[in-house]
Amino acid sequence: MPRAAVTAFVGLGANLGDARQSVQQALIDLAHLPHSELLAASRLYRSAPVAAAGPDFVNAVAELRTSLSAPALLDALQALEHAAGRQRPYPNAPRTLDLDLLLYGEARIDSARLTVPHPRWCQRAFVLRPLAELAPQRVSAVLLRAVADQACEPIAQTPEHVP
Ligand code: AMP
Repeated sequence: MPRAAVTAFVGLGANLGDARQSVQQALIDLAHLPHSELLAASRLYRSAPVAAAGPDFVNAVAELRTSLSAPALLDALQALEHAAGRQRPYPNAPRTLDLDLLLYGEARIDSARLTVPHPRWCQRAFVLRPLAELAPQRVSAVLLRAVADQACEPIAQTPEHVP
């Protein structure tokens, strides 16, 4: 029986190579995931690394409608990271592309490889600010105030080819 579609939010980040291009390409790739539709994407943001090394990040958040299960969606996100040349030489190393499953409907998942909502989603301005553009009802003013001191500014409109 086909699985019911769920609205999921994916956080995108990159801080190696042409980070802006990597995030834009990842949005195109997300639009082509099987059994999924890209409903919307935030503007692109620039953020200072938090607990990570290297140059500033380019970030965005995408909203998907998907009938992939959460583990299958994580598989697909990790395949895109891999295709973008992602390596994990040490924890929090600079990355060509990082894709995090932030929210999967209202699901709460705590398995060996997947925690949803993402464990740090409400501590990071680079998640909360773009997410607030797409789903303001899921990001309270209290959460936004708590990250007000984190450097994270919009740098570009949503790419034209993205809804
Ligand atoms: P990172 O190095 O930040 O990309 O972390 C990737 C690791 O986090 C992988 O081993 C995933 O299995 C795990 N992980 C747990 N929960 C999530 C999530 N919600 N989104 C993405 N990766 C997750």
